[in-house]
Amino acid sequence: MTKTQTTREILADLVGFDTTSARSNLPLIEHVRAYLAIHGVTAEIFPSADGRKASLWATIGPAGPGGIILSGHTDCVPVEGQAWTSDPFTLTERDGRLYGRGACDMKGFDAAVLAIVPELVAAKLERPVHIAFSYDEEVGCTGVREMIAILKGRGEAAAACLVGEPTSMQVVVGHKGGRGYRCHVTGQEAHSSLAPRAVNAIEYAAELIVFLRDLAGELAIGPRDEAFDVVHTTISTGLISGGTAVNIVPNACSFTFEYRNLVEVDPDSIFERIVDFAETKLLPEMRSRAPQASITFEPIYDYPALAIDPSHPLVTRLKNVVGHNGHGKVAYGTEGGLFQRDLGVPTVVCGPGSIDMAHKPDEYVTIEQLDRCDAALRKLLL
Ligand SMILES: [Zn+2]
Repeated sequence: MTKTQTTREILADLVGFDTTSARSNLPLIEHVRAYLAIHGVTAEIFPSADGRKASLWATIGPAGPGGIILSGHTDCVPVEGQAWTSDPFTLTERDGRLYGRGACDMKGFDAAVLAIVPELVAAKLERPVHIAFSYDEEVGCTGVREMIAILKGRGEAAAACLVGEPTSMQVVVGHKGGRGYRCHVTGQEAHSSLAPRAVNAIEYAAELIVFLRDLAGELAIGPRDEAFDVVHTTISTGLISGGTAVNIVPNACSFTFEYRNLVEVDPDSIFERIVDFAETKLLPEMRSRAPQASITFEPIYDYPALAIDPSHPLVTRLKNVVGHNGHGKVAYGTEGGLFQRDLGVPTVVCGPGSIDMAHKPDEYVTIEQLDRCDAALRKLLL
């Protein structure tokens, strides 16, 4: 590791760590900690409960309020089953593009943040610049929740947060919230010839799924936001399993569903509607034949919607920094909603690379996008 490194050199280092969410990110975090230490910046490490992973928090400049948080995640999605032209964990240039798992989502931004650290240290900053690198973003924003809880607990505050998810360096002012659940339906098994005396778990699960579809239809004519591709709140069933044989009434069925809500739509009220249908419509009928019948909901993930007023000074400043006056909203979720909701920090999303390249084989970020990110961070922070 040399004293100063370009964004591209740092990106090559970061991509070299296989930080697929199922694996430990500790070698990468240790690498970043050591890099920051070389530049006189002391990082705090927040380990996960099992100690296999960690988030990193570091502050450059004076302590106190009024600073900006630069938020990035260190994990990436798996490469299994994907056909890659070159090794996904070796950053490889072809035609102005840098290929590698996470190059776009979102180690490119992480690298740009780290590359500017020597300049931030040399500049006499008036307000702090915070680096917040998390783990397990791709599997439910786990790391950042714990980090935010710690920061909140000690009264840490900031005036702004920039989440560098890939937006092709466009200023993004909002995304929907998201919740995923696994539903377990338990009935009563029997020989299929005795079906009326049993409780068919698949059939009751199917009733609940049809309710979800009807509820989705109702939400589709509810609040709208024309800034989104799909302008309303959505619900979708994803996986289902149950049953053992054609002549057995199944006693168990489970399925997953998720919904993505506009900020105007309360995610709790959607869940309450679903639970209410299960408890008042389905369960009494099921329990009239099998008292042990049950329907339970297990949360899989939950992240809040992000929404910042497009006329907020932070949005105006970012537009000026990226040299583009437009703003948009995106379909995918980010850690931004948590910084905004749980830490009360105005948050925008803006980072290098296109989300269209993320999570795919031959994921890449262009050198041009990295250069634009470097220039934007310099203009924003120095
Ligand atoms: Zn991401």
